[in-house]
Amino acid sequence: MPTIVAGRPAGEARGGRMMPERCRALAKSGKPCAAAPLPDGLCRWHSPTWEAKRREWSAKGGAQRSNANRVRKQIPDGLLTTAELRGLMGLVLKGVIAGKLEPGVATAAANVARAMIEIAKVVEVEERIAELERAAGIGRRSG
Ligand SMILES: [Zn+2]
Repeated sequence: MPTIVAGRPAGEARGGRMMPERCRALAKSGKPCAAAPLPDGLCRWHSPTWEAKRREWSAKGGAQRSNANRVRKQIPDGLLTTAELRGLMGLVLKGVIAGKLEPGVATAAANVARAMIEIAKVVEVEERIAELERAAGIGRRSG
């Protein structure tokens, strides 16, 4: 635990300023932490008074990460069929309702699913056109 003089903002001790603009700690990269500081001169990621909260956050983050991994493991490799995609979105929906998956993850998954469906539609139409053209003996115009 860093030594902080009680009742005295760290910025003042360093030379006149009431509050430092940035957290006094170093980030993991070794660069000064750019986060806004709390009155003790450290940001909420570095301040010892936020330790308990941080642990809570990282536990939550860990749970979310493992949920994301669990969903990922249920995704088959390669292309998804519409049925697979529908099943996957069902899992995502269940996860959100059960509170196991963050709504943001579900939104992202839904966006990707929508994009995949759009691509599939275009591919299907192109394949059908190609088939019709082959049947009509006209072939595909290039360009
Ligand atoms: Zn910091």
